[in-house]
Amino acid sequence: MVLHTGRHFLQIPGPTNVPDRVLRAIDHPTIDHRGPEFADLGRAVLAGMQRVFRTEGPVVIYPASGTGAWEAALVNTLSPGDKVLMFETGHFASLWRKLAERLGLDPVFVPGDWRRGVDPAAIEARLRADAGQEIKAVCVVHNETSTGVTSRVPEVRKAIDAAGHPALLLVDTISSLGSIDYRHDAWGVDVTVAGSQKGLMLPPGLSFNAISAKALEASKTARLPRSYWAWDEMLGPNATGFFPYTPATNLLFGLREALTMLLEEEGLEAVFARHARHAEATRRAVRAWGLELLCQEPREYSAALTAVVMPEGQDADAFRKTVLERFDMSLGAGLSKLAGRVFRIGHLGAFNDLTLMGTLAGVEMGLVAAGVPHRAGGVQAALDHLAAEPQADSPKLAAAGE
Ligand SMILES: *Cc1c(COP(=O)(O)O)cnc(C)c1O
Repeated sequence: MVLHTGRHFLQIPGPTNVPDRVLRAIDHPTIDHRGPEFADLGRAVLAGMQRVFRTEGPVVIYPASGTGAWEAALVNTLSPGDKVLMFETGHFASLWRKLAERLGLDPVFVPGDWRRGVDPAAIEARLRADAGQEIKAVCVVHNETSTGVTSRVPEVRKAIDAAGHPALLLVDTISSLGSIDYRHDAWGVDVTVAGSQKGLMLPPGLSFNAISAKALEASKTARLPRSYWAWDEMLGPNATGFFPYTPATNLLFGLREALTMLLEEEGLEAVFARHARHAEATRRAVRAWGLELLCQEPREYSAALTAVVMPEGQDADAFRKTVLERFDMSLGAGLSKLAGRVFRIGHLGAFNDLTLMGTLAGVEMGLVAAGVPHRAGGVQAALDHLAAEPQADSPKLAAAGE
């Protein structure tokens, strides 16, 4: 048994490492959620989340995991028996489909091989074939966390428009928001679903819907039963910074701090560039080890995580166990049909060059310790990339004259 000293490396693709200053922001006495001090907090986090979603429209915040916000997106906009077009990009897309079925919706599930994102051409074809306009929503997982594949949402929007179809566009950004470029308004998304514990660098427990005018209009006639998730119940009190039921007050303290980091200090463009650079360095390491990336479409490589295929005959879970026991690092497991066959490296959230190098060193040492056939040199390949493409100067610091 190895005694672990120093910090645990939580390199699963969510929950992610929570920055100390966010933990400190949470560590305050809970305040009266109906008092005047709360209204400032409520207004600040709602306005900040609009900037992260890049929307002028309303955002709601639920005290729930991301799954709750998935349900909210569906029950607020749809009616029993509605057809929804969904795509088998991986484990999370499959779970969303199951949830839709349980709610009494009728998902049309387009099969996939879990190695690429949604095919915009297939969307256009399906919608063109739907002459009766029975499909009421297209549901897409932006960053499929089980595979490390990021679907091209702007092209999905174009495909829906090209088909001239009125379906709503619902997008899960639970593992992309605050890590990968995303624009709710500019991309014509109707409901965006997000969660607190991935790119937003918070503990689990908050989730979000960003809502277009078209989605809000749909909610007036949608007939799926809803109470806890009802947008209208939320939006009334939210206008003055309050909530209809007790919010997760202390997580909102943390959210305010995380928003300051993302929006005021680093800036979203720099956040996205940082994630893309670390993802590229990770892929170079994987290739140098002679291992295979699960994602087969280079323009869909995820900037938030990298899923790595184990060599034939090697058990990914045994490898992850070795890494945890020897080096105190958690790597993501292969989910459902990928169980034992892939491991996932999370490189999102609070992260820098040295956290990346510690992570990759842990993987390389783990490959050696677990006896997984590979070539040496992955860590070096990543170092070479980081040195060749140094982190850009901060636009925010430049603007402040520092
Ligand atoms: C994590 C995740 C979920 C599930 O969110 P929970 O907070 O576990 O309910 C759904 N979709 C994606 C893409 C995710 O990464």
